[in-house]
Amino acid sequence: MGDTTGQSRRAELATNLESVTDRLSAALVAAGRAPDAAKLLVVTKYFPASDVVTLADLGCTEFGESREPEASRKVADVRDATADALSFDMIGRVQRKKAGSVARWARTVHSVDTAPLVDALARAALTATETGARTAPLGALVQVSLDGDPQRGGVLIDDVAQLSEQIAAADALELRGLMAIAPTDGERERWMTLLAKVHGEHLRRFPEATELSAGMSSDLEVAVRFGSTCVRVGTAILGERPIP
Ligand SMILES: *Cc1c(COP(=O)(O)O)cnc(C)c1O
Repeated sequence: MGDTTGQSRRAELATNLESVTDRLSAALVAAGRAPDAAKLLVVTKYFPASDVVTLADLGCTEFGESREPEASRKVADVRDATADALSFDMIGRVQRKKAGSVARWARTVHSVDTAPLVDALARAALTATETGARTAPLGALVQVSLDGDPQRGGVLIDDVAQLSEQIAAADALELRGLMAIAPTDGERERWMTLLAKVHGEHLRRFPEATELSAGMSSDLEVAVRFGSTCVRVGTAILGERPIP
């Protein structure tokens, strides 16, 4: 994966970041959307805290992590190394027993997909607030399974509203919208059309839940065309992940 230290790594990250922000801007223009209608979440899983610090220095403020305890440790290291106000979101599957640690570092969890997990996160966010580990409610996005395949996580479309009601009723949680990982069967337009429809219906019932987290390195343009407000990009910025 090349040199990950020093100036050459910084140059590599800067070049990749610029090409991704160019792609995002072009996709927004092409979709006739405002320049800030979709934000970039830089996915740093499997990469060291030093990369996060470099990316923060290059202007990135929002990061995504997907695994515990890697995420907790990295966030702590980064917060030691930088005075910047950076945000970290949890985008990977959360085991209920990890809810406590996730609630201490995450701004938002993108991958909420079961009722027991909502309960665990609600309790964890309350504790984190009481102990001073967090000051704002824990954001929550309901992860939608577009094809019903449990492999990538997500709740069935028919069960989204019920889970959203449960989140909305929890004091320490704040329902922010929906997230999806598009199936990789090549029909991205079809899946994104479906997701946009689900999001539209969801917005009528939960008008505050405006976020739609969709699009990754390979499909951010399609996602932006269909209304994504947050693209989660790892590989196109950091390179191939060291471990699959
Ligand atoms: C790893 C990951 C990403 C980033 O994917 P890339 O293809 O590397 O851009 C996005 N979303 C989720 C949920 C991930 O786990």
